Amino acid sequence: MRRGMRTLMVLGVTGAVTAGVAVTAHSAPRHEERHQEIRNVIYLLGDGMGRTHVTAARERYYGATGKLNMERLPNYGAVATYAVEKDSDRPALVTDSASSATAWSSGVKTYNAAIGVDAYERRVATLMEQAHRAGFATGNVSTAEITDATPAAQFSHALLRGCQGPVYSDSSCLPKKADGSYENKPADPTLITPIAEQIARNGTADVILGGGLSRFEPDDQEALRAQGYQVLGSFGDPALPAQTAASQKVATKADLAGVRRGKVVGLFNRGNLTVEQAKATLPADAPQRQEPTLAEMTRKSLSLLDGRSKKGFLLQIEGAQIDKRSHANDAAQTLGEIKAFDDAVRAAVDFARKDGHTLVVVTADHECAGFNIIEKGSYTNAEAAAPPANADAGNSANNSTPSRPSSGAKDPARSSGTVNGAGANDPKNFGPATFRTPDDPADVRDGSPEASLWLSYLSGNHTGADVPIYAYGPGGGRFAASQNNVELYGKMYRSLFGTAPRGH
Ligand SMILES: [Zn+2]
Repeated sequence: MRRGMRTLMVLGVTGAVTAGVAVTAHSAPRHEERHQEIRNVIYLLGDGMGRTHVTAARERYYGATGKLNMERLPNYGAVATYAVEKDSDRPALVTDSASSATAWSSGVKTYNAAIGVDAYERRVATLMEQAHRAGFATGNVSTAEITDATPAAQFSHALLRGCQGPVYSDSSCLPKKADGSYENKPADPTLITPIAEQIARNGTADVILGGGLSRFEPDDQEALRAQGYQVLGSFGDPALPAQTAASQKVATKADLAGVRRGKVVGLFNRGNLTVEQAKATLPADAPQRQEPTLAEMTRKSLSLLDGRSKKGFLLQIEGAQIDKRSHANDAAQTLGEIKAFDDAVRAAVDFARKDGHTLVVVTADHECAGFNIIEKGSYTNAEAAAPPANADAGNSANNSTPSRPSSGAKDPARSSGTVNGAGANDPKNFGPATFRTPDDPADVRDGSPEASLWLSYLSGNHTGADVPIYAYGPGGGRFAASQNNVELYGKMYRSLFGTAPRGH
């Protein structure tokens, strides 16, 4: 219905249909959409990729005046990412990937660790399920296990993100009550069904590419084949009680290259995919070298989804290791994964440019580790022998005396909490990572004090900082705003269906 109306409006502009028909059929569309119907939505997210992650990768690879591919997109905004406490609407200011992914895939705030359920454990429909039901083609791609929180929240529902499979256990699938005992099993058994088992049976995504083969079993492969999926590699030997690296066969990029059309599942590692920096150091015949890059998975997904349905497609693509390597405070791997993610953005935008009916959204689920660019030759507070003194020559009432009596102790003059953690006495825990940039003289090396990009971390965990968002294509202007992550659901829904979702 709406597609037809959109066509009428386009005709209306050229005068073939009276303006009155167009106006009564729909409220006035934004100018950019009047001429460019949206058929496809590509949603890319760098897990854990905060504002400074983008800046540091830009400077590292393209220099201070350069730009990443995502930064070349015409629309730019910011996204607030907080979660809520369980069984309430009280904000929890630092989100995890599960809560954040549920926010954009279903438009609800939920508790950390929740997949496709709201704060009260009620199942919520996901954008990918709605697109699939309406006849759109769908794809879900990640460099993590495909059962991990970010991809999972588009095509499964679970009370806890750890309920990935291959088998059910109370400890991974049932939340705990305040007294430490497990909650009762929910009335809807899906919510405690291992995510791998759900993905293999619900048919929500036509193209499924990532890691996590060890989460799946031979009966999952049978279930997928029965639905018409081509399954790359092998999920294992049905005669065995449990699968191992010997019984399962990971998919390879050669397997993927051989796929020409149809529904496909390719799992290229039993765990997460290998970070690009590590892959590059392995011998050519190492199995990890047979994993496709995120850009390669993106291009293949687009070729399989394009034209599969005349309605269009929804494709989610996650660069997952940006977060995982930020947790580990490994700046070199983090930057390499941002570059690999940005190469996938390039592949998506190249497609959208040619197609003309594709919206590309690039964002993140949350910041990770308080990644920051510090002044060359300087140290973070954690590394300094003493915290910086605060002496205000103009107003001595502002003065305070720093103290750091011992690791983890409080400085009541400056803070109501602990000053740094247990590692504060060991400078190695906080030593800045240094990288050369294209602006540096040719003989400057990574890791040297002469390198101009000095990076440090605040922690090994997520932070509550807003994350950047970029958009290209028809409807892209909607994302050029300061917005909440739950709003992304409604904006993408509107792009696919032309109307607002119920209750939004
Ligand atoms: Zn994380």
